[in-house]
Amino acid sequence: MTGSAVWHPFTQHALEPPMKRVISTEGAHLVDEEGNRLLDMISSWWVITHGHRHPVIMEAIRAATQTFDQIIFAEFSHEPAERLAQGLIEVAPAGLKHVFYSDSGSTSVEVALKMALGYFHNRGEPRDRIVVMEHSYHGDTIGTMSTGERGVFNAAYEPLLFGVDRLPFPEAGGRERTLAMFETFCRSGRVAALIIEPIILGAGGMRIYDARLLAELKTIAERHGCLFIADEVMTGWGRTGTMFACEQAGISPDILCTSKGLTGGSLPLAATLCSRDVFDAHLSADRRKTFFHSSSYTANPIACAAAVANLDIWRQEPVVERIKAVEALHCRHLARFRGDARFADVRQLGTIAALDLVVPSSGYLADVGPRLRRLFRERGLLIRPLGNVIYLMPPYCLSAEELGRAYDAIDEVASIVLGSAF
Ligand SMILES: *Cc1c(COP(=O)(O)O)cnc(C)c1O
Repeated sequence: MTGSAVWHPFTQHALEPPMKRVISTEGAHLVDEEGNRLLDMISSWWVITHGHRHPVIMEAIRAATQTFDQIIFAEFSHEPAERLAQGLIEVAPAGLKHVFYSDSGSTSVEVALKMALGYFHNRGEPRDRIVVMEHSYHGDTIGTMSTGERGVFNAAYEPLLFGVDRLPFPEAGGRERTLAMFETFCRSGRVAALIIEPIILGAGGMRIYDARLLAELKTIAERHGCLFIADEVMTGWGRTGTMFACEQAGISPDILCTSKGLTGGSLPLAATLCSRDVFDAHLSADRRKTFFHSSSYTANPIACAAAVANLDIWRQEPVVERIKAVEALHCRHLARFRGDARFADVRQLGTIAALDLVVPSSGYLADVGPRLRRLFRERGLLIRPLGNVIYLMPPYCLSAEELGRAYDAIDEVASIVLGSAF
C-alpha cells in the first residue's frame, strides 16, 4: 500500500511493490530516493537517445522558457516550430515536405491515419481500408489500437476497434505470402494506406524483417495508389543504425510518424511528416477540405526548442560514431549467446539487441517477465522484457563497461530463472 494516488501505466497495482521515486537522472542512469543508481538499458521506454539530461537540450529548454510557454498554433506560428520543421524536412527521407505537430507517438499515428483518409475523401475516391502487419504496435488510443495487434492488452476495447486488413509477419521463407496478400488487399481498390513499423516491430517483440521486403511493399503500394505510412516513432533518431529506418530500404514514405527521440527524449512532442500530394489534397477554397485536427499543446514552443537542440546535436556531435560503437559492442557480446540452448533467435538491429529466453511452458511465460524485471533491478539494471523477449535499447552515451554489465546480468539472470523452472 503506497498511499499514492497515482495510477501508473501498464501496471497491475495489485501485484507490484510500492514504487520507488526517481530523484534525478544523468547520462545512462536513474537515481532513486535510496540513492541506488540504475542503468537505464531501455532508454526510459525508448525515448532517451543521447543520454538523460544532455546539456545542450537542457540549455535550449531553459533559454526557451525565457520567452515562451504554450502559444495557440492556429492563426500564429513561432520560431522553434518553423526551425524544427525545416530541420526535419532536411533529415527525413526525400519527398516529405510538410510537418504537422502533435504530442505523442499515438497522436502522430492518429494524424497519419486521418491524413490518409482525408486525402481520399477530398479527392472523392471511396477508399477506407487500412492495411497493417501482424504483431504491430502503433499506440494505445482506440484508433491506433485498431491498427495494432489484438490481444489481452486491448480485449476490453475490442468491440469498438475498427476492422483492418492484416498482413502476416514475414517469417523466414514467408515473404512471398506477405507480398501476395498485400497485392490481394490492394486489388480491392479500397485500401487507403498501409501503416507499418519499418524493419523492426518494437512492442510486438523486437521482430526484425528484411529491408528489401519493406521496399517491395512500397512498390506494391505505389502501383495501386495506396499511401505508405512509416511509423518511425520507435525506429527514428538512430535506433536502427540510421537516422530513420526507411533509409535502409531506400524508400520515402508518403507519411512518416516520429516522436520518442524527437526531443532526445526530454519533452513530449510528435510530428507527422507528409508529401506535397497529401498536403495538397487538403488545400482548397472549400473549407470542408481543411485538415480538422488539433491538440491543445500542438507545437509547444519549449518542446520544439528541445527538438531543434536535438538536431543541433546530430549535426555537431559524433552521434553516428556513438551509435556504431554501441552496435559493435552488442555484436561482440551477443556472439556469446549464439548457440546457447537457453536462448533462441539472438538478433540485433543497430543499437537494439534482443534474444528470446527459452522458457519451458506458455503458462510459465506469463510470470517470467516480471520475475526477470525484478532480478535485473536487484542488479542495478532497468530492463523490461516483453514476455520472454529480453532486449536492450540503451542511450547512445552508454560505456562499454556498462553494456558489459548488462550482458553479464542477462547471463546470470537467465540461469536463475531457468534453473528454478525445471
Ligand atoms: C511507442 C510507440 C507508439 C506510441 O507512442 P506514444 O508516445 O506512447 O503514444 C507508436 N508507434 C510505435 C512504433 C511505438 O513504438
